Amino acid sequence: LSDNTNLWGAPPAAERALREANISVARYPEAYSETLKTRLAEYAGIPADHIIVGCGSDDVLDSAFRAFAAPGDRVAYPDPSFAMIPIFARMNGLIPVAVPLGRGFDVDADAMLATGARIIYLCSPNNPTGTAVGAAAIERLVERAPGLVILDEAYAEFAGSDGTARWIASGRVLVTRTLSKAFGLAGLRIGYAVGAPALVAAVEKSRGPYKVSAVAERASVAALGPGLPWVRERVAEAIGVREQLAARLRALGLEPLPSVANFVLVPVPDAAATAARLRERGIAVRPFTGLQRVGDALRITVGPWPLMDVCLVGLEEALS
Ligand SMILES: *Cc1c(COP(=O)(O)O)cnc(C)c1O
Repeated sequence: LSDNTNLWGAPPAAERALREANISVARYPEAYSETLKTRLAEYAGIPADHIIVGCGSDDVLDSAFRAFAAPGDRVAYPDPSFAMIPIFARMNGLIPVAVPLGRGFDVDADAMLATGARIIYLCSPNNPTGTAVGAAAIERLVERAPGLVILDEAYAEFAGSDGTARWIASGRVLVTRTLSKAFGLAGLRIGYAVGAPALVAAVEKSRGPYKVSAVAERASVAALGPGLPWVRERVAEAIGVREQLAARLRALGLEPLPSVANFVLVPVPDAAATAARLRERGIAVRPFTGLQRVGDALRITVGPWPLMDVCLVGLEEALS
């Protein structure tokens, strides 16, 4: 329960495509994954020239940093947020600037702008808080940011509402998504970004060719086609389990943050020790210590209810 992947597994249609794929592995895959881009464009409801893909959305984020900032430039990101962001920034010679989340765990747009960063990173639903970024904060950043705004939507499917098209039309926002979470294909490493053609072309240039393997492309195309009903059903199920899990945590006297993702962040005293006690019972959750605005907390991935039940029983014991 520690990685936010799909605990129901992968779409059966994708697994079948992997078993039956007759791929000549001595040859290169498509250099820029045109077939997969076309399918993703249909799924996202956007023209294919607005899409790029990569070896996980991590690869897309890393490439975007290289494409839109020069060594010594700043990257502003909310704190807490995705732990890889300051790492990718430093790996590209950029300066990561953490900006504490504001009221209600929303992004503090003015504090982000005050950093003067070339790249502003946002994550909605935000990992690890599970909370959504308010439309007002995004709008302000899109209007005033001096450079690129990245909106990481790795968990978009679980949040329901979709305002992506509106941000993309501004021509200054790159939205990143992945097949690692709702689509259950984390092991195949497929991520993508949606944005204005000039933006995605720049990211693709810094990314380079052949980043998605022929095998990954075949499985993704199946997941986005015949696999889609399965994905949508599991997303609906995850949302139901998430609400049930939050209610049970509240019944234990805990105060989970309001999540719109496939995980729940719940503040607990001494997260490291609590997580270690859960480990002894064979339960893996992600501990966070001294999180900005939250303090110590556990991040629990939502999965089939029997797993949640085991986790809740373990948590009650670990806390008593
Ligand atoms: C999991 C995750 C990603 C990365 O996913 P990939 O497997 O590299 O596609 C990106 N952003 C956030 C916030 C995540 O939680």
